[in-house]
Amino acid sequence: MDVYGLIGKPVGHSLSPAMHEAAYQTLGIDAKYVVFEPDPADLSTAIEGAAALGIRGLNVTIPFKQDVLDFVDPDRTAVEVGAVNTIDFSHTPPTGHNTDVDGVHRSLERYNVTLDNTKALIVGAGGAARAVAYVLEHGGAESIILNRTPSRAIEIADDLPNSTGGGLDQLETVIGDVEVVVNATSVGMESNETPIPAELLHEQLTVMDVVYRPLQTRLLRDAEAVGAITIDGAWMLLYQGVAAFELWTGQPAPVEEMNNALRDRLTA
Ligand code: NAP
Repeated sequence: MDVYGLIGKPVGHSLSPAMHEAAYQTLGIDAKYVVFEPDPADLSTAIEGAAALGIRGLNVTIPFKQDVLDFVDPDRTAVEVGAVNTIDFSHTPPTGHNTDVDGVHRSLERYNVTLDNTKALIVGAGGAARAVAYVLEHGGAESIILNRTPSRAIEIADDLPNSTGGGLDQLETVIGDVEVVVNATSVGMESNETPIPAELLHEQLTVMDVVYRPLQTRLLRDAEAVGAITIDGAWMLLYQGVAAFELWTGQPAPVEEMNNALRDRLTA
């Protein structure tokens, strides 16, 4: 039996086991997906131990996505984003990848969102925002990154020629001109808050939320009410898992079965 898994802290409510095991079941793969919560001080030992035990692949989540860069051979995307969320143990040393980038990219693709020469707004400047900013930049969009702590947004934008950073006080000024908005903050997660006041939203927008609990965040409900196109955070979660599965197994993922497993749990 092949073993895959997730390391993070906490990982108790992770939806990844259900999503990946739905894929194994659909394709008849003899594998198990397990969650691990190593002590942060033991991260390097945990990676070495996983390799020694023959674990095939690990996803990585908070708080290890940046620190794990030191213990794997990261690919170019992981280096540019500054984070690894997927480790492939079929190489020595194991390789590090960032499939959150695929998650954002494939979500936008699923909704036929054009990025080239598009003006975009990213709210937030944490790990998720870095993956979003990378995809928008490489897709040819001109992005404005706004964050509660403006210096973090400016720091991301400094590495991206077509992006600029600033504070949330600029929201009102910039939103009228943009076509794509992505919430990459945790605002709205298990709460009825929104990072963007409803009165600033307009019909010409495509609004993507990285938050997936609840699926219909207040931001997405407000956006839908003005006639904007909405993309919920479960798409990013799905497609980062799809990309990890394909990297590890070398075969196309059963996307719709993985999506059903995810959405069943999010709507339960
Ligand atoms: P993070 O690195 O901790 O960043 C959090 C971001 O949210 C920062 O920009 C922070 O601003 C902002 N923020 C937090 N509370 C705020 C508030 N009350 N008002 C305004 N801004 C606030 O976290 P992350 O890893 O980027 O994750 C962010 C969210 O994305 C989480 O909900 C996570 O579950 C979700 N996520 C989803 C996926 C997916 O596949 N769908 C993948 C990764 C993450 P400051 O910089 O000012 O603190």
